[in-house]
Amino acid sequence: MNIIHISAECYPVAKVGGLADVVGALPKYQSNSTIKAQVIMPFYDNKFTQENTFSTIYESELSIGDDLYNFRILVLKEKLLDFDIFFVDVSELLFKDYVYSFNDTERFLSFQIAALDWLLTWDAYPNVIHCHDHHTGLIPFMLQESDKYEAFRKIPNVLTIHNAQYQGWFSHDKVNLIPAFNFNNVGLLDWNGQINPLAAAIKCAWGVTTVSPSYMEELKTNANGLEDLLSAESSKCFGVLNGIDWKIWNTKTDTYVKKTYTTKTIAAGKKANKKYLCDTFNLDIDKPLFAFIGRLVGEKGSDLFPEAFKNSLEKGGANILLLGSGNDEVEAELEKLKVQFEGVYNAFIGYDETLSHIIYAGADFLLMPSRVEPCGLNQMYSLRYGTIPVVRSIGGLKDTVIDISEEGGFGICHENTEVSEINTAIDRGVELYKKKTKFYKIRKQIIEIDHSWDASAQEYINLYKSIN
Ligand code: ADP
Repeated sequence: MNIIHISAECYPVAKVGGLADVVGALPKYQSNSTIKAQVIMPFYDNKFTQENTFSTIYESELSIGDDLYNFRILVLKEKLLDFDIFFVDVSELLFKDYVYSFNDTERFLSFQIAALDWLLTWDAYPNVIHCHDHHTGLIPFMLQESDKYEAFRKIPNVLTIHNAQYQGWFSHDKVNLIPAFNFNNVGLLDWNGQINPLAAAIKCAWGVTTVSPSYMEELKTNANGLEDLLSAESSKCFGVLNGIDWKIWNTKTDTYVKKTYTTKTIAAGKKANKKYLCDTFNLDIDKPLFAFIGRLVGEKGSDLFPEAFKNSLEKGGANILLLGSGNDEVEAELEKLKVQFEGVYNAFIGYDETLSHIIYAGADFLLMPSRVEPCGLNQMYSLRYGTIPVVRSIGGLKDTVIDISEEGGFGICHENTEVSEINTAIDRGVELYKKKTKFYKIRKQIIEIDHSWDASAQEYINLYKSIN
């Protein structure tokens, strides 16, 4: 079986969020002696592409409406990853120092067309085409409807929704950008009067998955306008919980952390990493360290952070350290708090992969008061690193974290994304930190929880077989 994943992000090449982690891990765990999983992604102008060398294996041109663009397919000269990865270089559109920003309709349309045009030249077509999020959402439609891709009609294709908030909407004025198709079926592209790539993919894909069973259920009532569509298509929709890549997220071998550790050496390992964080960010080593890592957007509840952090810090029991970027106002508010709470609070506004690993290793608690959390990888990384998750019970957080008040519980959960509930959850963490025996016992328990990819990778394979 040959599986082709088509995605805008893939770790370690280009990462904005969890999509990259999933597409960078899933192919590794799907591949075995009879299954080959490969990735096609855009060629961006970033650190990874600057630091590595590539060779061209195919060159052609593609049209988007009346405009012609040259494109190339590139491969890495050295095999750096555990799976084959192909890069689509549409220099004029895709090769930017950002993943998402301006002109994304044309950019990602060019990516999808180039990927399919190139696949048409293959001697043996793939057995499964697996698309990820709206950036590749027009592929299931084009496979089904576009004249030039008729040869692909019988290839099963799957869409995974990593985040339904973003749908790639564009105006019907741009419908001519899509390769010629039977115009009687233009309605497949439409949702509420706009071309909606995510909706088109949900309608046309043979199978639709999302990244946790709870999120799949929640989407039927909260999917940024797609609720009815997801309810109507529910017979082909499945929730498959993401795993984490233990080859990268491993406390024993992690090259980013200040001190590696095992279950036996967890206390010393976490202490050394916490000390580094406290020294670097001027925090109080004796107080529990609550951390947040992520995008500062409404979905993560970040608009509530300034008030919630202020309330908890005023009580004097906790340190808080934040790593993230996003909303300008929230960033400014979070910066301001530094003066008032010097010595117990700090924020690194930006993206830093190395620092994120050190925080997972050095923090005592990880905050995730998300309004929406399709799966959430951070809580799984934090469990793996012995850091107790403090989460709102929603989506994948609900599927992976059990409150300490329950049998076998190991996390701190709250029902709603509200300031008062975030503060109560932090208070509970501060209390737990004081009960050292229980606190250390939970740490040792969570580091052993198995969220590896093996089971989930197999679930996807079963799905491909079932829709074949
Ligand atoms: P989402 O995809 O919604 O952003 P996930 O929890 O699925 O959230 O994945 C987030 C991933 O991005 C994690 O690997 C997390 O460590 C990483 N991440 C997010 N923000 C930052 C940041 N500012 N610096 C480093 N890593 C970050």
